[in-house]
Amino acid sequence: MALAAVDIALWDLLAKSQGVPLWKMLFDQAEPPGLEAYNTNAGWLNNPVEKVVAGCLRSLDEGFKGVKIKVGSKNPEDDLERIEAVRKAIGPHCRLMIDGNGRWDLATAKKFAPKVDDYDLFWFEEPLYFDDLNSHIDLAKYMRTPIALGEQLYSKHHFDAFMRADAVKYVQPDALRLAGISEWLTVADEAHKAGLPVVPHVGDMMQVHRHLSFAHPSSALLEYIPWTQHCFEEPAIVRDGRFLLPEAPGAGTTLKAEALADFGKALA
Ligand SMILES: [Mg+2]
Repeated sequence: MALAAVDIALWDLLAKSQGVPLWKMLFDQAEPPGLEAYNTNAGWLNNPVEKVVAGCLRSLDEGFKGVKIKVGSKNPEDDLERIEAVRKAIGPHCRLMIDGNGRWDLATAKKFAPKVDDYDLFWFEEPLYFDDLNSHIDLAKYMRTPIALGEQLYSKHHFDAFMRADAVKYVQPDALRLAGISEWLTVADEAHKAGLPVVPHVGDMMQVHRHLSFAHPSSALLEYIPWTQHCFEEPAIVRDGRFLLPEAPGAGTTLKAEALADFGKALA
């Protein structure tokens, strides 16, 4: 992660030195295809189900075509109730993803897989402990719902192992957790060769990853968590369910002076 900070800063400098946004430097055509956003911000596990349902409906009103909710309650039956309530409220045409953050064990996941499959989910993210490759291989054979993961894989070799074993369908590399943009591009290219969609995890609150998704042929969908927009000169903005194409030179990492001063104070 320390290497990532240096690597991203260098890509940012390179793009700025050429006077272009990073996506344009990586993408050799004038206008990339659009980038759809799905909203992660409506479905946190500590919110009661009514609040999650209301947030998902609000997301649809705002133009999102997909929402993600967290699962991993002490009682998996509670998770199924949440999924059912949201699916009923949003209807059959909106993408619905669930994210377990690795809280289920293999026995639980296998027991509930047929029920999870009933809700036409776009993916089940991190159903199991993040680097338990063998259990993911087992579950992938058992569950029709595709598996998404990658936010806790910290090297291209780790991604290779999951991709080679058919233990992941939606590949979620994060440039802040790999060794930066350079290793992210290697992982995304490997996913592309394997025919797997890349849907990055956004440890950066989309600032860098919107550039990477706009530029990469395997990435047409990106999650949305709007927690740090006030900190950046050119925040990541979604309108009617799609990311705006960044225009400022660089990788989207330029902090506003106030934010830099505030964080500087916090570190001092
Ligand atoms: Mg996640």
